[in-house]
Amino acid sequence: MNVPFLDLKSQYLRLKPEIEEVLADIFEHSAFICGKYVDLFEKAFAAALVAKRFIATSSGTDAVHLMLWAGGIGPGDEVIVPVNTFIATAEGVSLCGATPVFVDNDPTSYNIDVERVEEKITSRTRAVLPVHLYGQPVDMDEINDIASRHGRMVFEDACQAQSARFRGKAVGNFGTAAAFSFFPGKNLGAYGEAGGISTNDEGLYQKMLRMRGHGSVERYVHESIGHNYRMEEIQAAVLLVKLKYLDGWNARRRQIAGMYRSLLADLKEVICPVESADAYHIYHLFVVLVPADKRDKLREFLQKRNIATGLHYPIPIHLQKAYAHLDYKRGDFPVAEKQANEILSLPMCPEMKDEQVEYVSVNIRSYFHG
Ligand SMILES: *Cc1c(COP(=O)(O)O)cnc(C)c1O
Repeated sequence: MNVPFLDLKSQYLRLKPEIEEVLADIFEHSAFICGKYVDLFEKAFAAALVAKRFIATSSGTDAVHLMLWAGGIGPGDEVIVPVNTFIATAEGVSLCGATPVFVDNDPTSYNIDVERVEEKITSRTRAVLPVHLYGQPVDMDEINDIASRHGRMVFEDACQAQSARFRGKAVGNFGTAAAFSFFPGKNLGAYGEAGGISTNDEGLYQKMLRMRGHGSVERYVHESIGHNYRMEEIQAAVLLVKLKYLDGWNARRRQIAGMYRSLLADLKEVICPVESADAYHIYHLFVVLVPADKRDKLREFLQKRNIATGLHYPIPIHLQKAYAHLDYKRGDFPVAEKQANEILSLPMCPEMKDEQVEYVSVNIRSYFHG
């Protein structure tokens, strides 16, 4: 048997007639950027989140940058972010000329340790930017409580959490704005680069809309500096086709997570992810913890049996060369540093068959117990 980490090809084959139809329509009309499909997708995704507004962008990284930039984050500001995330979260802050201030992991959820956010607030802190990592929502009531007591803004990085919910409400509705990514491997993925921002703030929406296209509303009239962060029609059309399947795909991911959990339950060497109370986790990734001295050998063992695994993320951001100038050192974030050596992402995608989940589990078991 062969178990890829994710299987975009078989998803495509099932959607092929629908995809071909919208692509043919785009080539027929030959409007390629921010046209009819971007408009339709923006409205459909806002409706899916039950958010007032959604603006499509050229990537998730651009979405993080644009929401912070339009939200007024600039040089001299600090933004509190988790140390365990994809680097784009911190880059969005840096691209505004501001400084990311890192927080260690919560030991059970891998998310930002909410208890450690308040101690990072200084006079320069402008905002908190939690990440719903691996598809698991952060406790946004706690984050909002801390931020509002100190009069700071909240932004969400929901790049891994399309349609994840906290207390029944979709993430993307808990702060000033939220960034989403539609990178092909995300739960809702385009056929190239794509992202977007949700907001319930009409003024900010208008500003982001302008800044997405060179600060202009009317062609060649520029009210401010912006960028080119527009989405392509091809990506919007693909996303529009796929959006109607997202809830079903997320439900299937949850089912696979449940299977892994029960098949691995009695293995004391493997700790499965814990769902936080009030969180509807959508398992963008299924990340387990195994003993650090066994992790790489287990990966190799699985690879030999045609099972692909991943590491999300092998080096916490404070130890990346890119952030050496912030002068953090090993030992600053003990939970994240320890977990970086223990994490292992198992294959996870809605196309996975039950037999494949069993095959992965049986092989993990045989690695530890022969
Ligand atoms: C994927 C991702 C991004 C960036 O998205 P791109 O579309 O790849 O630019 C940002 N933050 C997190 C947490 C992500 O997982």
